[in-house]
Amino acid sequence: MTEERQPLHSGGCQCGAVRYALYAQPYNPHICHCRMCQKAFGSFFAALTVVDLHDFAWTRGAPTVFLSSAQVERGFCSACGTPLSFRHLETERINLSIGSLDAPARVRPERQIGIESRVPWFSELAALPEARTDEAIPPERLAGIESRQHPDRETEAWPPRS
Ligand SMILES: [Zn+2]
Ligand SMILES: [Zn+2]
Repeated sequence: MTEERQPLHSGGCQCGAVRYALYAQPYNPHICHCRMCQKAFGSFFAALTVVDLHDFAWTRGAPTVFLSSAQVERGFCSACGTPLSFRHLETERINLSIGSLDAPARVRPERQIGIESRVPWFSELAALPEARTDEAIPPERLAGIESRQHPDRETEAWPPRS
């Protein structure tokens, strides 16, 4: 069946094998510091936002899922490993990783949970010395980098056929 509604948000994994669309504004944008989210995201926290299942569709491919608890399914791309989703199976909602959205800055976290596992220096991160990518990597090396990341928009096919 073709989806007639226009998505308000779209996103997907780094390699482009899995893409998704949100047909409503997501709610409860948050970061979770719990140890399971740290592990699943390979990071200090997970950034997630929620949408009802009837306002959500996988539009290309499908994630592989890992049951990190008996009732919790975590979806990721089996080809590139990007963490994509988190879902309590008894609910009709799905959490999407904010970083996998095509426009992550449009969804600003509003609360923190799982703070018993928060790394103690979390609040100091924003004060670390900073640099743009083109300041940190010499131009000759930057010019030689050929990105294989899927662009932050819909594509007909990825990678493009040449
Ligand atoms: Zn992928
Ligand atoms: Zn968590």
